[in-house]
Amino acid sequence: MADWTIDDAERLYRVKRWGGGYFEIGDNGNLHITPVPGNPEVRIDFHSVIEEMKEEGIQFPVVVRFHDILRSQVAELNTTFRSTIEEADYQGRYLGVYPVKVNQMREVVEEIVDAGRQFDYGLEAGSKAELLTVLAFQTSDEALTILNGYKDEEFMRLALLGRKLGRKIIVVVEKYSELLSLVRIAKELDIDPIIGLRSKMTVKGRGKWESSGGDRAKFGLTIAEIINAARYLEEQGLAHTLQLLHFHIGSQLTDIRSVKDAVAEGARIYAELRKMGVDLRYVDVGGGLGIDYDGTQSTSESSRNYNMKEYVADVVYGMKEVCDLEEVPHPNLVTESGRAITAHHSCVITQIVGEIKNSQIKFDTAAAEDEHVMVSNMRDLFETLETSDNMQEIFNDASQWKEQAMDAFKLRVVSLQELAKIETLYWQIMSRLHQKLKEAEFVPEELQELEYHLSSQYLCNFSVFQSAADTWAIDQVLPVVPITRMNEKPSVKCSLVDITCDSDGKIDQFVGEHGVQDVLPMHPIKAGEDYFIGLFLTGAYQDVMGDMHNLFGRLNEVHIFSDDDDPEDFYIEEVVTGSSVSNVLSIMQYNPSAMAQDVKRIIDKHVAAGSIKPREGVKWTDFYEDCLHGYTYLKTR
Ligand SMILES: *Cc1c(COP(=O)(O)O)cnc(C)c1O
Repeated sequence: MADWTIDDAERLYRVKRWGGGYFEIGDNGNLHITPVPGNPEVRIDFHSVIEEMKEEGIQFPVVVRFHDILRSQVAELNTTFRSTIEEADYQGRYLGVYPVKVNQMREVVEEIVDAGRQFDYGLEAGSKAELLTVLAFQTSDEALTILNGYKDEEFMRLALLGRKLGRKIIVVVEKYSELLSLVRIAKELDIDPIIGLRSKMTVKGRGKWESSGGDRAKFGLTIAEIINAARYLEEQGLAHTLQLLHFHIGSQLTDIRSVKDAVAEGARIYAELRKMGVDLRYVDVGGGLGIDYDGTQSTSESSRNYNMKEYVADVVYGMKEVCDLEEVPHPNLVTESGRAITAHHSCVITQIVGEIKNSQIKFDTAAAEDEHVMVSNMRDLFETLETSDNMQEIFNDASQWKEQAMDAFKLRVVSLQELAKIETLYWQIMSRLHQKLKEAEFVPEELQELEYHLSSQYLCNFSVFQSAADTWAIDQVLPVVPITRMNEKPSVKCSLVDITCDSDGKIDQFVGEHGVQDVLPMHPIKAGEDYFIGLFLTGAYQDVMGDMHNLFGRLNEVHIFSDDDDPEDFYIEEVVTGSSVSNVLSIMQYNPSAMAQDVKRIIDKHVAAGSIKPREGVKWTDFYEDCLHGYTYLKTR
């Protein structure tokens, strides 16, 4: 172990680079969490968290939430804006909102609202269900509530109810016709709305969500529509209700230049409207503040080439510069950062339950009498491998012969036994080639993929579709690391596969030493010992977008709070039980208790017929019911 240090592990897993100051590898090789950046004394060993979960009998996989991280991120965003505004001598305030679509879980929103109260931090909703949600939360009196998305009449009425209750609710018009219906309903109810206009931007964000900007953007008004809207409100005697200009050019903006461009464009529109006499008070720059998922600090799609401080400075100084030149007042600034608030606070912890490896097949390949020439050819090839220096040729021959052998098998020329020998020899050749290539100076392109094909697949007790939807849907890279043993050199290169019956249920893009790579070095599994891994930065979108593919339901959740006085520096504040099998079946229209009765009736019939003993029948009935009420994932203890 002397040739492997924590620094080596850090270089490999890049924990500090994606960890946002919250995660690092401890001297004992375990993953540590420091959830309060201002207080490094609070240090939680993730291994202790797992031990406590085991003691409480919580089944894995588990979502672990660190509430202190949520609070820290809310504070960080708000204090960064405050200090930058002060430093720039900017005349407006910062009044940020949290867009609940990023993670609508009640406990998450509650924590954000609570941590944000002292900053007048508000909420954003993008649908009727979300609007009903945010109306029930008590933010501070000054905090804004911003409503985006397409709206019907009911939505408008709910927004005006919020106005009636004294909330600073701003309805952002995405589509011109919404303005007409809002004005009509506001007059009918005699309640003054506060109106925002979303501008369709010509700037496109770089990254996966670039279509949120540009001419074909789904949302927003053209410049002509914005001017018409301002005139219309004036005609209606409602000029004073138009207070906010909104734009949002996409999530996870990877390049700071798109932020600068959007702010410049938005600031110009704001300034011109002010000069036209529109009394705008707020400019809302939307979301987009990115997260460095892969630790590369680059414009790759899972990263970004800036940090929060730089983003904030570009918004504040960008707006100030244009306003000062145009001699208009500095507007209050609003952002709708969601990803940046929630991504770090939660992770998924699960264990590896098996290893799948083709090249480890053990099968006797000794020559048999009258064996088919295809088998002896493959064996000869294996033997010439040591003396040959043309690796590509051997690779080509072996690959072609393996395919031909399958054809020959289908034509009944090669037997099942012979096919097994050919396959085994093929994998032996590939392993040996791979070893030899490690010493080679030049590796032909096709052979570079050998590493991936020969690597193990670690079978993980979770579902990609439930817990990491974006890795499947849009190739989002999420950091994966073992929770323990990082003081040990990892000797197994592997990718991860989940327990769904879907070959897309896999992860083969990892944060690694050389950027994103298709295999991750892990530790060999030891018999009788758990090997836990964590999937990190799952708090934004992933947490709430999962589906029930294969009827794997929601995960058990553990909410962790830090406590400096506790010997382990934490306590489990709450355990939220995940879906049981009967929960997911009910969603699919089954009636689990009727199913249990049906199965009992069938068992009773067998008991009556004597094929099952009565005592045994009772046991089977109970077992079926227990499983119905159990967890949907593999039971490992
Ligand atoms: C999704 C969305 C956001 C959140 O964006 P993040 O990149 O997660 O900060 C903000 N505003 C609007 C209008 C959105 O649609």
